[in-house]
Amino acid sequence: MAIDHTKVTEQRGGEEETKSYIKKVLGLIAKKEVTPEEAAWITKETVDGFRENVNPGFLEYRKTVTQGGQFAAVEWSDEGSCFKDVSGKEYIDCLGGFGIYNVGHRHPKVVAAVENQLKRQALHSQDLLDPLRAMLAKILERITPGDLKYSFFTNSGTESVEAALKLVKMYSERTTIISTTRAFHGKSLGSLSGTAKGMFRKPFLPLIPGFRHIPFGDIEMMRKTFETCAMVGEDVAAVLLEPVQGEGGIILPPPNYLREVRELCDEYGALLVFDEVQTGMGRTGRMFASEVYGVTPDILCLAKAFGGGVMPAGAVVANERVFKSFFPNPFMHTTTFGGNPLACAAAIATIDVLLEENLPARADEVGRYFLNGLREAAVGQEDKVMEIRGIGLMIGIEFHRDEVGYEVSKGMFDEGILVAGTLINSKTIRIEPPLTIAMDEVDRVIATFRKVLAQTQA
Ligand SMILES: *Cc1c(COP(=O)(O)O)cnc(C)c1O
Repeated sequence: MAIDHTKVTEQRGGEEETKSYIKKVLGLIAKKEVTPEEAAWITKETVDGFRENVNPGFLEYRKTVTQGGQFAAVEWSDEGSCFKDVSGKEYIDCLGGFGIYNVGHRHPKVVAAVENQLKRQALHSQDLLDPLRAMLAKILERITPGDLKYSFFTNSGTESVEAALKLVKMYSERTTIISTTRAFHGKSLGSLSGTAKGMFRKPFLPLIPGFRHIPFGDIEMMRKTFETCAMVGEDVAAVLLEPVQGEGGIILPPPNYLREVRELCDEYGALLVFDEVQTGMGRTGRMFASEVYGVTPDILCLAKAFGGGVMPAGAVVANERVFKSFFPNPFMHTTTFGGNPLACAAAIATIDVLLEENLPARADEVGRYFLNGLREAAVGQEDKVMEIRGIGLMIGIEFHRDEVGYEVSKGMFDEGILVAGTLINSKTIRIEPPLTIAMDEVDRVIATFRKVLAQTQA
């Protein structure tokens, strides 16, 4: 076949352009500050790039959550409780990346640990023994509740849940796994089996066989499901739960629920898996929500804040009885990047900050103040606000109607405060700021909420 020379030349010309584009981007990454012209270029490139090469759907989504010309808010830098868009406007981050920024944005200790590690070794050989993995696993044994002891490291929440599910399957011959309504465990095919939202699951059915969803918080239903599964020979291998449901809208477990689930698991010989991807690392007022409720799971899933908001990192921690199923062949479940030295350095520094700065206790204290302040701000607005609930710095404001929550979160964004609330899911807006958030920032959020709520139509 003849070579099409015109095409070859075109590509060569294109390559020069690609190279200079790359240089321009690298130059911007290296800059401390960008000029207004550069900011305008970045914004245009971002919007064009999302439209042409990422997914135009995101632009539609951003438009729905912001006023007119602002839809192109492009983030550029962050520090402490705040991030800035490329034009320099600052926002208090009360979304916290859905719980990534427990130690704040770019905590200096976490950044330093990662930088120091980066200067020596970034990733591992995959063959020799890497020290930080061992040390982090030891630290986790010390800070996790009960007899949790062995750790497997991952890069994300969904991977932690996948690893937990494979661990359950290695350990148990049973195939039934109980999950709950409104649960969120991630979106890869395994963890999605546990996730509850029909919209996210339907196109991908059938998922892992054996999953049963029952209402969260209903202990009688849990008991009946255990009984029924045993009767029909489909015994329960494990129960998978978020101790406090995050994406579901900050749903707290009823009193004693988690303890009673633990008892049922013990009675029927099933494992208890806690997905603490969002509740872990101090968010709920203790290092882990397991401790708040006095219940130790057999397997604990971590991610989000685990890497300190600097590195993607996650872990599953399990007791020896369960984890030893992986002893004979550690290659039954592996990941190239999970537990890499940069991620471990970040996680170790994150735990240091949480302990040294007493952040779990701070989450409890500031959380109470925040919750009370928001509740007080909503007095007289009962026609709009249904309930404000939370634990630690995991707070949900539930409205009577989606539209109200949507208007409130939009109004707060205009005032420089980011909370979670979107057109498709605004019935409950979530407030999950860094556990380091300053009191005057909390006061500003409460005052802004009061003002915006008063201006919003019921
Ligand atoms: C966010 C979340 C996940 C998924 O984590 P990813 O890192 O997005 O895969 C799983 N479980 C819970 C409870 C979460 O909040």
